[in-house]
Amino acid sequence: MSVQAKPVEVFDLVIFGGTGDLAMRKLLPALFHRFADGQIPDDSRIIGVAREEIDSDEYAKRVKDAIKQAAGDNKDLAKQVDPFLKLVGYHPLDATVDKGWNEFAEDLSDAKRIRIFYLSTSPSIFVDLCERLRQHNLHCGRSRVVIEKPIGKNLESAQRINDAVGAVFDESQIFRIDHYLGKETVQNLLALRFGNALFEPLWNSAHIDHVQITVAETLGVGTRGSYYDTAGALRDMVQNHLLQLLCMVAMEPPASLDADAVRDEKLKVLRSLTPIDNENAGKLTVRGQYRAGATRDGAAPGYLEDLGDDHSNTETFVALKTEVANWRWAGVPFYLRTGKRLPERVSEIVVSFRCIPHSIFENGSGPIAANKLVLRLQPDEGVKLWVMSKYPGPGGLRLQRVALDMSFAEAFGVQQPDAYERLLLDVVRGNLTLFMRRDEVEAAWSWIDPILNAWQTSSEGPKSYVAGTWGPSASVALIERDGRTWHDDEDEQ
Ligand code: NAP
Repeated sequence: MSVQAKPVEVFDLVIFGGTGDLAMRKLLPALFHRFADGQIPDDSRIIGVAREEIDSDEYAKRVKDAIKQAAGDNKDLAKQVDPFLKLVGYHPLDATVDKGWNEFAEDLSDAKRIRIFYLSTSPSIFVDLCERLRQHNLHCGRSRVVIEKPIGKNLESAQRINDAVGAVFDESQIFRIDHYLGKETVQNLLALRFGNALFEPLWNSAHIDHVQITVAETLGVGTRGSYYDTAGALRDMVQNHLLQLLCMVAMEPPASLDADAVRDEKLKVLRSLTPIDNENAGKLTVRGQYRAGATRDGAAPGYLEDLGDDHSNTETFVALKTEVANWRWAGVPFYLRTGKRLPERVSEIVVSFRCIPHSIFENGSGPIAANKLVLRLQPDEGVKLWVMSKYPGPGGLRLQRVALDMSFAEAFGVQQPDAYERLLLDVVRGNLTLFMRRDEVEAAWSWIDPILNAWQTSSEGPKSYVAGTWGPSASVALIERDGRTWHDDEDEQ
């Protein structure tokens, strides 16, 4: 039985950077889906803002093209496109200069409405933007601001951005988005851990051998090379997405789902991570950079060719090992890896349990593998629990590993909403649970900065790996040194 989602209150949403890639590819289609599902009231407004001098009709045309794909062949959805476009308007404005702000402010004069500013622009203009919102008194009590990653490129710059946004908005109005937290599987981790009696008693070092978190992409840097080269995989992926996933796995049960109760627990995890610095970075981290190779789609150029440069020390792959130094997790390694131009597009968390202490089965029964809980974030969100089972037939008690496999799409018969659909409506509702608090972002940078520093002062650059492979061989060695291997679903069959 499907559960009808409740409509939200009427709102004005201003998307600074409304013509950009994120707005067109993610935000507007997500809003369209929520509208088509009856969750967004007809008199809400969505106002795109960018410097380009176009009018609202031209903008609506672009939005229509962007959401056409979202509607696909579904006739019921297609009927909703024109009504949705009635909500959409456009305001040409350079967020960094005074001209045009008075007219823009007049357009937003209804201070009784929920007012959301989504900063979908480069973070370099966040400071200017927030200052202008303040000058024009647009930060009313019911306003909210959404900021996208990257929040800085180290602790110091993150503090600068947080100071600037915090000078205008109260922390309770600031929504630092990490779209991984909006993924169904990540929220399902909360449901699995705290809505079932089954897992929590086992969720500790006595029963869990190790945890792996993998976020693998098949694509290279594409047209984002100039941004990416100033960031790299550690800043772009580990500092936010992978550490947030680690927090969701490792945090203590919060007292409630209240935003601060959850965020307090995540913060404790971030502060418990064992430090990686000059002393141990060589042993605990591996960084790589792809060179020309081949993926499923054919020949793939190397990072330097993608970048159009002949030298760069930027990593497109990271693998690292850390621990959460507390009573629950001491001695349990967390292996994290992420990279571009890997063989598959897959994001998953693998919780690997300890082996049984003693086998009653005879030698011919086959090896008894440890149980694994695999949470797939993409593709095909779902949960798999690998257990040992008797192989059918009269040939003796032969054991084989099988998966209790739940695909969300199949189990619930509904298409999985995009993470932005959930998160955008949480912003309207004022629910901060799935957004990062300032101290979390800064604690994450405090842990990342010494790794960056160790790499910068090392005489070695990133290790090269062939596009279409699982990163440098050193990343395999990182885990195999401990007598473990990276999880591969196909090897489990
Ligand atoms: P983008 O395609 O380069 O778009 C930037 C947008 O900002 C454009 O609409 C641009 O339009 C507008 N803009 C630039 N300067 C402006 C100014 N002074 N005043 C008003 N508007 C201005 O960038 P994006 O990929 O959408 O990314 C936006 C933000 O989201 C970035 O911080 C990015 O790191 C983050 N992000 C993006 C993705 C993604 O998938 N794209 C994912 C995660 C995070 P005009 O040039 O016409 O002004």
